[in-house]
Amino acid sequence: MRHYSNTQRVLVTGGAGFLGSHLCERLLAEGSDVLCVDNFYTGTKENVAHLLGNPRFELMRHDVTFPLYVEVDQIYNLACPAAPIHYQYDPVQTTKTSVHGAINMLGLAKRVKAKILQASTSEVYGDPQVHPQTEGYWGHVNPIGLRSCYDEGKRCAETLFFDYHRQHQLRIKVARIFNTYGPRMHPNDGRVVSNFVIQALKGEPITVYGEGRQTRSFCYVDDLVDGLMRLMNTGDEFTGPVNLGNPVEFTIRELAQKVIALTGSRSKIETRPLPSDDPRQRQPDISLAKAKLGWQPAMALDDGLRRTIEYFSAAR
Ligand code: NAD
Ligand code: UDP
Repeated sequence: MRHYSNTQRVLVTGGAGFLGSHLCERLLAEGSDVLCVDNFYTGTKENVAHLLGNPRFELMRHDVTFPLYVEVDQIYNLACPAAPIHYQYDPVQTTKTSVHGAINMLGLAKRVKAKILQASTSEVYGDPQVHPQTEGYWGHVNPIGLRSCYDEGKRCAETLFFDYHRQHQLRIKVARIFNTYGPRMHPNDGRVVSNFVIQALKGEPITVYGEGRQTRSFCYVDDLVDGLMRLMNTGDEFTGPVNLGNPVEFTIRELAQKVIALTGSRSKIETRPLPSDDPRQRQPDISLAKAKLGWQPAMALDDGLRRTIEYFSAAR
């Protein structure tokens, strides 16, 4: 059917998840029609319940490993469990979601001539031997380990995006997202920020894996969503991949201490064994995002943590 208005029709797969729900909110605020597709594997209807009354928002239960026939102008492909305990629960389904999901969404983009953005990940760099990671680094990934279903699934999705671009001239955008945190993180997904905040609020031990000397850099969700939207709106010649994340690096032990200080908790730090294939260091080089998107994170970790703590306090 012809689309007569100038309103952008935007499909967000994984739209009921943590990042997806914030993205749907922002797209609606900027005047787009939003179709949120999710199988509610790790996302929930509650995450988008506040959007259901908006006539420009539509929620559809669908699994992206099956084809989807809709008419849209832009696709943000976010569907995929993101936390290790979730993606390792059914690893075969995780690879299927990344690979078959990408094929289905790319096929849809080809049919309707939509622009399509892939939510890729810093995990494509594996346990990196180059620091900080630039987009030109090919990575150091174990193909047969516990994280491989996610890492290799996302790597294959990137391959598919670039082959659809070369072979079918699809307009693609690939974002490599680094650790992001904020309200609506899944409370039981085992990710470090939600774990530490919930443990501190309950006065339970803060579980630092290993010695806590491994580093991560944490990007607040609003900054990340802003980066994704800027990337989608770049000219067709820019495909990425582009790193989106916060270059300010902290050790996991420093994060634990910050969370204890900000919550005023009496929790004590306890160590636990380091999970297999846990990257020792991770920090994005965001020079490309700065140059091409005019983007860099604005939220300081302390401020973002305060908002996250507020969310989890209210949710308890
Ligand atoms: P999330 O688990 O909250 O969201 C993923 C969403 O995808 C959920 O709503 C889930 O129900 C849905 N989903 C999973 N499998 C599906 C399927 N087969 N069909 C339809 N929907 C499906 O995770 P998130 O943190 O919001 O991550 C969103 C995307 O961003 C993911 O692709 C993830 O790999 C990527 N990413 C996130 C981070 C981060 O730090 N949050 C970092 C790197 C990459
Ligand atoms: N981590 C930790 N305690 C926890 C949860 C995670 O020390 O309760 C560590 C984990 O080993 C990793 C880092 O925090 O080194 C980030 O873990 P997360 O699962 O959030 O994301 P990853 O970057 O590993 O995908």
